[in-house]
Amino acid sequence: MLPLIYNIPAPMIETYKGRNLIVRTDDLSELNKSFTPEDLKNIVYIQLLTLKDTELLKSQVYGTPLDLVVSDPVRDLPRLYTYTQWAKTYPVRISVPVIPGFIKIVKLAAALNFAVNLIPGQPGPQRIEEMMQVLNFYLRQSTVSQPVEFFHTMLFAIFNDEPLNMWTVCEENPLQYRYITDQGQETISARFTGIKLPEDLNAFKDTFIKRLRDEAPECNNCEFLANCDAYFKWPNREFRCDGVRMLFKMLQETAAELKRDYVASADAMEKRSL
Ligand code: SF4
Repeated sequence: MLPLIYNIPAPMIETYKGRNLIVRTDDLSELNKSFTPEDLKNIVYIQLLTLKDTELLKSQVYGTPLDLVVSDPVRDLPRLYTYTQWAKTYPVRISVPVIPGFIKIVKLAAALNFAVNLIPGQPGPQRIEEMMQVLNFYLRQSTVSQPVEFFHTMLFAIFNDEPLNMWTVCEENPLQYRYITDQGQETISARFTGIKLPEDLNAFKDTFIKRLRDEAPECNNCEFLANCDAYFKWPNREFRCDGVRMLFKMLQETAAELKRDYVASADAMEKRSL
């Protein structure tokens, strides 16, 4: 089993010393006070919760992979430019919830060469339509050079027949990730904050899925269960997945198309070498 990665608020760095960490903060300068160079070795990435103009290049953590969390697409859109210098040398990812305006964030992020991480939630019909547009944009636009998650990893999981599911891709698999709330409570991810979960978080996902299977036939009969693993049934189990299945379908068809191209080019190479 891989060591757990803890997503912690910056002031808790001392408590979690020596663990693999995602450190979240509203202000990079706060990290300058609390970090030693030794701490940086265990940082998977820094999650910046508030995008603002700041003297980034003077930051002690300059060079650490950065995850910029967009909370207001309209307000945060122009602020993406602030981080282009960082992204020239070090990885920068934009995490954006699927809410009105997210599509503009994705397009600008792609133009600025940032990776994108969609936080899908339980998207309604309008948002699904926009996610289909984003998926098309990601798959067909030759100028997009950075991954748009969860599409990117899921596409290659389907292509390679890998048993990878949405909980892992979205960094919410309790066997790999833990989220420490600002009050110090250990849970699975930000969307579980304030929700009472069983003490054994390792068992949560399997117990939850088992219950869903018993209670919600939609997952039992879903052809994408292996890749989704009932991810979209949290928190509302009544959520209808017609739109989500369209996204998985498009990924599945694209993976099949890639496989056909791959086999055709392998055949052509073989013929040439005969
Ligand atoms: S797409 Fe919906 S129905 Fe299918 S496995 Fe996921 S949550 Fe269940």
